[in-house]
Amino acid sequence: MPNSDASFDSIIVGAGFAGLYALHRLRGLGQSVRAFETGSGVGGTWYWNRYPGARCDVESMQYSYQFSDELAQEWSWTERYAAQPEILRYANHVADRFDLKKDIQFNTKITSAHYDETTGLWTVTTEGGERFTARYLIMATGCLSATNFPAIKGRESFAGATYHTSRWPHEGVNFTGKRVGIIGTGSSAVQSIPLIAREAKHLFVFQRTPTYSIPAHNKPLDPEEEQRIKSDYRGFRARIAQLAFDVDGEFSDTLTLSVNEAERRRVYDARWSYGRLSWLGAFGDLITDFKANETGQQYIRNKINEIVKDPQVAEALMPNHAVGTKRLCIDTGYYETFNRPNVTLVDLRRTPIDEIVTEGVRTSDRLYELDALIFATGFDAMTGALNRIDIRGVKGRALKDAWAAGPKTYLGVATAGFPNLFMIAAGPGSPGVLSNMIPSIEQHVNFITQIMAHMAERQLSRIEATEEAQETWVQHVNEVAAPTLFPSTNSWYVGANIPGKPRIFMPYIGGYPVYVEKCKDVASKNYEGFALSGSNRQV
Ligand SMILES: Cc1cc2nc3c(=O)[nH]c(=O)nc-3n(C[C@H](O)[C@H](O)[C@H](O)COP(=O)(O)OP(=O)(O)OC[C@H]3O[C@@H](n4cnc5c(N)ncnc54)[C@H](O)[C@@H]3O)c2cc1C
Repeated sequence: MPNSDASFDSIIVGAGFAGLYALHRLRGLGQSVRAFETGSGVGGTWYWNRYPGARCDVESMQYSYQFSDELAQEWSWTERYAAQPEILRYANHVADRFDLKKDIQFNTKITSAHYDETTGLWTVTTEGGERFTARYLIMATGCLSATNFPAIKGRESFAGATYHTSRWPHEGVNFTGKRVGIIGTGSSAVQSIPLIAREAKHLFVFQRTPTYSIPAHNKPLDPEEEQRIKSDYRGFRARIAQLAFDVDGEFSDTLTLSVNEAERRRVYDARWSYGRLSWLGAFGDLITDFKANETGQQYIRNKINEIVKDPQVAEALMPNHAVGTKRLCIDTGYYETFNRPNVTLVDLRRTPIDEIVTEGVRTSDRLYELDALIFATGFDAMTGALNRIDIRGVKGRALKDAWAAGPKTYLGVATAGFPNLFMIAAGPGSPGVLSNMIPSIEQHVNFITQIMAHMAERQLSRIEATEEAQETWVQHVNEVAAPTLFPSTNSWYVGANIPGKPRIFMPYIGGYPVYVEKCKDVASKNYEGFALSGSNRQV
C-alpha cells in the first residue's frame, strides 16, 4: 500500500483506455505519476460492463490503440466486433506489456480534488481519506462511466435480484428458469436482450423509447483481412483519421432526396447488409435535414415490420425520433428476439411504470411479477463522472457550480478556472463520444503531454484555458451542432436522460479531422487560448 500524503508530478483518475495511455505517456516524460481507479482492475468500460452480449460497435481493428506498432502487430482480435472479455484481456495485456499496474492504485475512489493557488498543486482525497498532491490532474474518468438509475418510485423495494448493466457481477448471472424484467432499450439492452431471452423463462422488456438498430453482422475476423490491414496499419489508420468520426466507412455527399426511392432503398439495403455505424453516412444530409432523415427512419421502421411477426409489437418497437440523433445501435438478433414466445414487450408510452414493488414492476395496467430486474438505463454521460467528484479550482469554485448552466470547456480538454486540470476524450466540447474513442483518447493524451513537455522546457508551471478562448470554443461547438438534428432529440448527448441536467448538446460535431487540425493550430501558436505562467513569470 502506498504512503499517504505522497506527492506526484501528475495524478490520473481512472484506469480505462484513457488512464492507461496517459500513464504510459506521462511516465515517458520522466514524470512521477499515480493513477487511481475505483475498480479492482484496468479496462474501465470493459471492466464494468460485463453484461451478456457486451461488445464494441466500432470494428476491433480500429477500436484499439495505435501508439505502438509492436502492440498493434502482435495483438490479434478474434471477431469483427470484439466482445467485452476480449477487450478486457486487451486492456490487461497493454497494462502488463507497458508495466503500468505498478503505478495504479486500485479499489480507490477519488472523492475530491482541490486546487491550491499558493502552491499551484492539486490535492486529491480518496474515499478512504488518503490525500495525495500533484501539479497536474488528469481526469480520465470516462464519458459513459457514471451509472444512471432512473428515479422510479419504490426502486429499492424489489425483493428479487437487481442488476445494472454497467455494474454486472464478475461471476456472471444465470437466468435459467427465471422471470426477468429489463428496464431500458438503449445500446446495452439491445446487446443483452437477445442473450438473456435465450436463457430466461420469460423476459419482460420495459420500453419507454424505441431504438433504431441495424444488424452488426458480427463474425470471426477474417485472417486475410487482418493481414491486409496489418501490412499497412499506419496507412489504414491515417486514412480513417480523415473521416468525420474517425470510423471507417463510406460517407456519401449525395443528397437523400436527389435520388429516387428505388435508389435510396438500394443504398440503404447495401449498408444494412454490411452492418456498420456508417449506415448513417448513406447520404450527405441524413443528420441535417429532417425530410432526408425521415426516409432513413422509414427504412428501419419497414425493416422492423418485416422482422417482427406480431404487428402490434412491431408498431410498439418503431421509433419516431430522427435516426442517428440518439446513438445508433448495432445488434445481433435484437428485433428478432421479440418473436420469441418467452419475450413480452411492455410499451411504457401506453402503460407507464407506476412503481417498483416487492414482487416486481407495476405499470398503469398490471403487475409484472419478476425474479430478477435489470436496469439498462445507461449513464449520466460526459459530465457525470466529473460532477460526482468535489472538484474545486481557483478561489475554491466548484466545477459543478461553474457548469451549473451547462458545461464549458476549451477544446474539451480544459476549463477556465481549473488550472492544470485536463479531461481526456470525455469532456464536453470534444468529439469523444461521436468518434472512435481510442484514437480520440490517444489524440488528447498526445496533446496534453506535448503541452507538459512545452511547459517543462520553459520552466512553466501553470496552464489555464482563458475565459475568452473558452467562450469562443463553446460558441463554435454550438454553431456546428445547430444545423444538425441532434439538439432536437431527447438523448444523453443533450443530458435529457438525467432530470435537471442543463440541456446542451455536449459533444463536438464539427468533425474529428477539423478538431485535430484545430488542436495542432493551437499548439503551433504556443498554445493559443491558454494562459501559461510559472516561476512568477507570465507568458
Ligand atoms: C457498453 C459500452 C460499449 C462501448 N462501445 C464503444 C465502441 O464500440 N466504440 C467506442 O469508440 N466507444 C465505445 N464505448 C465508449 C467507451 O466508454 C470508450 O470507448 C472508452 O472505453 C472510454 O475509456 P476511458 O478510459 O475514457 O473511460 P472508462 O473506460 O469509462 O474508464 C474510466 C474509469 O475511471 C474510473 N473512475 C471514474 N471516476 C472515478 C473516481 N472518482 N475515482 C476513481 N476512479 C474513477 C472508472 O471506474 C473507470 O474505470 C462504449 C461504452 C460502453 C458503456
